[in-house]
Amino acid sequence: MEPNSITEVLDGRWATLRRTVREQLAGVEYRDTSGLSTEEHRALVFEQLHALAKTDGPKLGFDRAYGGGGDVGGSVVAFETLGFGDLSLMVKAGVQWGLFGGAVQLLGTRRHHERYLADIMDLTLPGCFAMTETGHGSDVQHLRTTATYDGTDFVLHTPHRSARKDYIGNAARDGRVAVVFAQLITDGRGRGVHAFVVPIRDAEGNPLPGVSIEDCGRKGGLNGVDNGRLTFDHVRVPRENLLDHYGQVEPDGVYRSPIDSDNRRFFTMLGTLIRGRVSVAGSAGSAAKRALTVAVRYADTRRQFNRPDDAREVVLLDYQAHQRKLLPALAKSYALHFAQENLTRDLDELQSSAEPDERRQRELESHAAGIKALSTWHTTAVIQTCREACGGAGYLAENLLTTLKADTDVFTTFEGDNTVLLQLVAKGLLTNYRSQFEDLGTLGLARFVVEQFVGLVAERLPSLGPGREDAEALYDRGWQLRAFEDREAHVLAGLARRLRRAASGDADPFEVFNSAQDHVLRAGHVHTERVVLQAFADAVERCADPEVQRLLDRVCTLYALHTVNDDLAWFLAHGRLAAGRGKAVNGAVNALCAELRPHARTLVDAFAVPERFLDAAILREESDRQEAQWREDQANAAS
Ligand SMILES: Cc1cc2nc3c(=O)[nH]c(=O)nc-3n(C[C@H](O)[C@H](O)[C@H](O)COP(=O)(O)OP(=O)(O)OC[C@H]3O[C@@H](n4cnc5c(N)ncnc54)[C@H](O)[C@@H]3O)c2cc1C
Repeated sequence: MEPNSITEVLDGRWATLRRTVREQLAGVEYRDTSGLSTEEHRALVFEQLHALAKTDGPKLGFDRAYGGGGDVGGSVVAFETLGFGDLSLMVKAGVQWGLFGGAVQLLGTRRHHERYLADIMDLTLPGCFAMTETGHGSDVQHLRTTATYDGTDFVLHTPHRSARKDYIGNAARDGRVAVVFAQLITDGRGRGVHAFVVPIRDAEGNPLPGVSIEDCGRKGGLNGVDNGRLTFDHVRVPRENLLDHYGQVEPDGVYRSPIDSDNRRFFTMLGTLIRGRVSVAGSAGSAAKRALTVAVRYADTRRQFNRPDDAREVVLLDYQAHQRKLLPALAKSYALHFAQENLTRDLDELQSSAEPDERRQRELESHAAGIKALSTWHTTAVIQTCREACGGAGYLAENLLTTLKADTDVFTTFEGDNTVLLQLVAKGLLTNYRSQFEDLGTLGLARFVVEQFVGLVAERLPSLGPGREDAEALYDRGWQLRAFEDREAHVLAGLARRLRRAASGDADPFEVFNSAQDHVLRAGHVHTERVVLQAFADAVERCADPEVQRLLDRVCTLYALHTVNDDLAWFLAHGRLAAGRGKAVNGAVNALCAELRPHARTLVDAFAVPERFLDAAILREESDRQEAQWREDQANAAS
C-alpha cells in the first residue's frame, strides 16, 4: 500500500492546506540548531518568522475584514504542521499570531482590530502575550499586576517582584508591544483580570519609560524563542488600550460588561483563548510523528545479532521487544491525530459561529484540556522511547531526537499545566457543564460537588456488567468502546461516592477534594482516553478505501488493547476481565504488533513529515549500508 493513500485519510478536512504548508516547509532551509548560541538561534528564528509572515499561513486565523483568511481551523492546522520543523519557530509563530494576535482579535473590538491586526499579521508589530507572573502561573485568576483607571488613563503596575510577568515569549528581544493581563480597578473596585495593549519598546528597541525588561536566559530547549520578564512601574496607557470585548470602562470610570459575574466573565475570556492550547496539542503530535519516523525507519534497516541458522543479522524491528517499543506508540499517535482533527473541527465550528452553543463550548474546552494533556505527555514519552530505540546514535544531536526531546519537554507545562488541565476535565464531568461552573474555584468546586452533585452522579451512571471475555471479543470495536465507556462511568461514579463519604459530618470541603485528587485526575484521564478511542473508531468507520480501512482498523485495535493492557490491574480488579483473559490482552497486543510490523514503514511515511526534517545521519548511513548490501547481493546472484 502506498503511504499516500493513508496520508489522504490523515489529512482530512484541511488536506489542501496541510499539503501547502508541507510544501512550504520543504522549501525552508533546514539548519541543525543544536550547536547555535542562544543569540544565533534567536536571530535565525526571527528571520524565519519574517519569511513566514510573507506566506498566507499566519493570516489564516484572522478576520477576512482585516486581510485575514477567516479559517480558524486552518490556522490551527498550520501551527500543527509547523511542528514538524524547528519547534522554536512554531512557538515564536504561536506567540505572535496565536497568542498575541489572537488576544487582540478575540478580546479586542473594532478599534483594536483596525489599529493592530494588519501590522500583527505582517510582523510589523512583534508582540507578546503577558499573562503568567512569577508568583502565579496556573492560577491566573489571581494575578497581582494592577491596571487602575485614574479618570484618563490606565496605570499598569507591578506591586512586587513575584507579580512581574515571567517566561513571556518575544519579550526579551523582539516584542514591541505586550497584551498584559492585569486586575482592572476602576471607581475603587476590582473587576477581575482584563487584557491591555501596552507598548514596551520604542522603535530602536529600547524599553519604554517605566518598563523593565529582563532576559530569562538559556532554557532547557526552545532557545530560538526570547523569553523575558516584564515589570511595570506606573506605566500609563490610554483608556482605549483596554481590550474591551468583555468589559468596557466609560470615560467617567463606570464599568460595563455583558457578563455580570466576574468569574464567569474571566472564564469566558479564557475559553476564547483555547486556540493556543489546541495548537500546542497538535504540534506536540507532529513532533512525536517526526521522532517515530526517524526511529521506525532506523529500526527497519539497522541490524544487530544474527540468527543461529543465518549469517545475516536481524533487523531491529523484527525483534518483538522493538515492536512493542514502537508500534503501540505509533498506534497512539494515530489515535491522537484523529482526536486532534475532531478538536480542530469543533473549534473551527464554534469560533466561526455568531452564537456559539454554550454546552458545546464547555465540551470543547474540556476536550482541548484533556487532549492537550494526553498528547504532550505522549510526545514526551515517545521521544524518549525513540531515543532508546536508536541506541547510542539516538543520543547524538545530529540524529534529531535530543533536540526534539529538549524542545517538547515544556509542552506539558505551558498552555496549561497538564495536571491542572486534567482537573479541569474532571470538573467538567462532575458538573456536567452546569451553569454554576463559572463561579467555582478549587474550594468552591469541592463544596459544590459535596453539596449538590454527589447524589446525582452516582444514580445516573449506568454500571455495565463484564462483557464477553473470549479473546475474539477483544478485537471487537463495540467491546473496546464499551470497555472504555464503562471504565469512565465507573471511575466517575466512584469519585462521586468517595467525595460523598468523605464529606459526611463537618469535613473541610478543601480537604475532601484534595484528598481525592488522584481519583479526580484519573477521571479526567480515562474520560479523555475514551474520547480519543471514539475519534479513532469514527475515522476508521468513515474511511472510504477498504484496504486503508482494514489497516487502520488494526492500528485502532492496537491502540485500544494496549491502553487496556496498561490499565490491566483496573480491569482485573473490577471484574471486567477474568484473570486468565488478562493474558489474552497481552497476547493480542503481541499478535497485533507482529501483524503490523510489515506496515510500520508505510504507517510512519504516511505522516508525510517533509524529508528535510528527517535528515538524520543514522538514516543516511543506514540507507548507504542498505545500498551497499543490495549491490553485494546483486553481484552474488549474478556470479
Ligand atoms: C518556555 C516557556 C514559554 C512560556 N511562554 C509564555 C508566554 O508567552 N506567556 C505567558 O503568559 N506565559 C508563558 N509561559 C508560562 C506558562 O504558561 C506557565 O509556566 C504555566 O502556566 C505553569 O505555571 P507555573 O510555571 O507557575 O507552574 P505552577 O502553576 O506553579 O505549577 C507547578 C507545579 O504545581 C502543580 N500544581 C499547581 N497547581 C496545582 C493544583 N491545584 N493541584 C495540583 N497540582 C498543582 C503543577 O501540576 C506543577 O507540577 C511560558 C513558560 C515556559 C516555560
